Amino acid sequence: MRESYDIIVIGSGLGGLTAARRLAGGDRRILLVEQHSQLGGLATYFKRREHIFDVALHGFPVGMRKSLRKYWGREFAERVVQVRSIRFDNPQYTLDSTFDSRDFSAKLEGHFKIAPETVAAFFAALAKMNYYDEQTETTRELFNRFFPGRTDVWRFLMEPITYANGSTLDEPAISYGIVFGNFMSEGVYTFQGGTDCMIEMMDASLREHGVEVETNAAVDKIFIEGGKVRAVRVNGREIACKAVVSNGSLPRTVLEWAGEENFRPEFADGLKKVGLSTSSCQVYIGIKDGEKLPYIGDLLFASTWPEFDTDALLSRKISSRTYSVYYPEIRPGTNRYSVVASMNSRFSDWEKLSRAEYRAAKAAMIEDTLDALSRYLPNIRQIADYTEAATPRTFLRYTGHMQGATFGTKFPGLGYSMGLHKEVGGLFHTGSVGIIMSGWLGAANYGVITANEVERFLANGVL
Ligand SMILES: Cc1cc2nc3c(=O)[nH]c(=O)nc-3n(C[C@H](O)[C@H](O)[C@H](O)COP(=O)(O)OP(=O)(O)OC[C@H]3O[C@@H](n4cnc5c(N)ncnc54)[C@H](O)[C@@H]3O)c2cc1C
Repeated sequence: MRESYDIIVIGSGLGGLTAARRLAGGDRRILLVEQHSQLGGLATYFKRREHIFDVALHGFPVGMRKSLRKYWGREFAERVVQVRSIRFDNPQYTLDSTFDSRDFSAKLEGHFKIAPETVAAFFAALAKMNYYDEQTETTRELFNRFFPGRTDVWRFLMEPITYANGSTLDEPAISYGIVFGNFMSEGVYTFQGGTDCMIEMMDASLREHGVEVETNAAVDKIFIEGGKVRAVRVNGREIACKAVVSNGSLPRTVLEWAGEENFRPEFADGLKKVGLSTSSCQVYIGIKDGEKLPYIGDLLFASTWPEFDTDALLSRKISSRTYSVYYPEIRPGTNRYSVVASMNSRFSDWEKLSRAEYRAAKAAMIEDTLDALSRYLPNIRQIADYTEAATPRTFLRYTGHMQGATFGTKFPGLGYSMGLHKEVGGLFHTGSVGIIMSGWLGAANYGVITANEVERFLANGVL
């Protein structure tokens, strides 16, 4: 590391990586620092024995192909492939969908018997949503407007989003609408080669374009002087810079690293009240070499709960899980299968457990998941040779995000993230906020939006 850089990017999630890539290539000196030993943030993977587990590669919208092509290169976009089928199985319905607007409309009309004009009006309402708009309607109100009393339809429309990011019916309809609208456009996609392949390609691309990349490099202070960023402290060493892009936790960036005394009290106090999305849990199941899984869908949304109920979805008494089944095609040339079960259970339920209680609760989550999965794969206990579990405590440990937040902040966080540089010259944030800027596509696109702001700041020195 040198004494000074033009831009320091703190964190290598997809927001930080894409911001760095977007800013790279000119004469500017850019340093990207990541506290963990591996790049990628939540877009991560881990290897145990001969298994590779993808943590956050269950599916993303088709827009990721365009963003990868535009901001990373054609070789990235070429690896984006559509997943074959998404299955839903719960007491209210069992069906398969390609998860695109045509199929969803057909299911709403054919299976759920909704009038075609209502379906069309619902999709038109989603298409009109824009995150710069002021909107007060909640998702519950939106659903009530189009499908009053139809909790089976609410479940069909909402459950995949709740499974993914823990959002509830009482959050702004706009955050639901944009995430759902993105996914719905043309189905669900994945990255062939797996997360490890993509992150290695990104690392190589950054270095090739002159970005200095340091892992095991943690920032614990951002120095501000005269209302502007001056330096950051990385592993105890002060490094000067003109601009900082923090891809770390938004509250920690403001309240801990920069210090709230550098912000207007209403900004800092308002940010403290913003909720976090903190309920991701997973169980990883590795399948023995030589064993094969039958096709049970690429993504299977399974629930035993009678009706759609977000409290039930977020509770530690887990009744709903999404199974991502990884067949060998995800990593061509290999013959391995694995299953990653994702579920939600709030940080507060795990936070205070003692070490022994925590270990026991994780073991119980694994056992319950194997039991639940045996409904679809009856011999799962015989063919699995590795299991592990992650909770919000795990995500806290690996990313340093407050309360193990995995989809950043709730919707109001967006304004604080986007407004950061108006409080402190040269201080920017990128990465998961407001649900909308979350997920692979949201975080990567937000990296570009932030990089454009940084460019503007460095070109004009404007606040
Ligand atoms: C279980 C799970 C499943 C998911 N599934 C999907 C999915 O199927 N599809 C999808 O689109 N999205 C999914 N996501 C969400 C998606 O992975 C994230 O929204 C996205 O990757 C987050 O990117 P980010 O830019 O916000 O940064 P993050 O991934 O949050 O990364 C931030 C980085 O900053 C680093 N950092 C923090 N503090 C410091 C510091 N002080 N100094 C240096 N570095 C620091 C962290 O170590 C981390 O690497 C999933 C997430 C989880 C947890």
